[in-house]
Amino acid sequence: MIKIKVSNLSNGRYDYDFEGKASDLEIYEPYIGNFVTNVVLSKFDNQIIIDAETGIKANLICDRCANEFHSVIKSNFRNVYLFRVNIKDAEGEKEDVIFIHPDTDKIDLDKDIRDYAVLAVPMKNLCSEDCKGLCPKCGKNLNEGLCNCNEEEIDPRWEPIQKLKSKNK
Ligand SMILES: [Zn+2]
Ligand SMILES: [Zn+2]
Repeated sequence: MIKIKVSNLSNGRYDYDFEGKASDLEIYEPYIGNFVTNVVLSKFDNQIIIDAETGIKANLICDRCANEFHSVIKSNFRNVYLFRVNIKDAEGEKEDVIFIHPDTDKIDLDKDIRDYAVLAVPMKNLCSEDCKGLCPKCGKNLNEGLCNCNEEEIDPRWEPIQKLKSKNK
């Protein structure tokens, strides 16, 4: 789906913007809606460098208050493609580059966009930095207001002192 035509491309820097349904790239939960991918391609005599950044809206669940919230997760990657006439010979030569034939027509980015998007999903999610979470006693979402649990509760160890105080009054 995301293919960049590289045959007959002269040396230089190129910008591409792609947009479409995340599901068309086989990107699913927690992602929803559309993806937006910006690609910067640099073409040289013997190589192509691709820098891609993707943003996709995700439907996440807050670890503290268990509410669903939406957030755009960004992911990016850089691929280095080296031109090689005889790709078989070059296999295993270098792990961090991709060998392509100089006559390659198109570079397909679907799989990389998908793989990096999946890796970018955070392990921990908070609906906001200062999410107050749930009351451990009654389970009320404290972002929506306070419950009555904590205020009236007195640590039993302080009870005698509390009584003394009220006597002195
Ligand atoms: Zn929360
Ligand atoms: Zn409570």
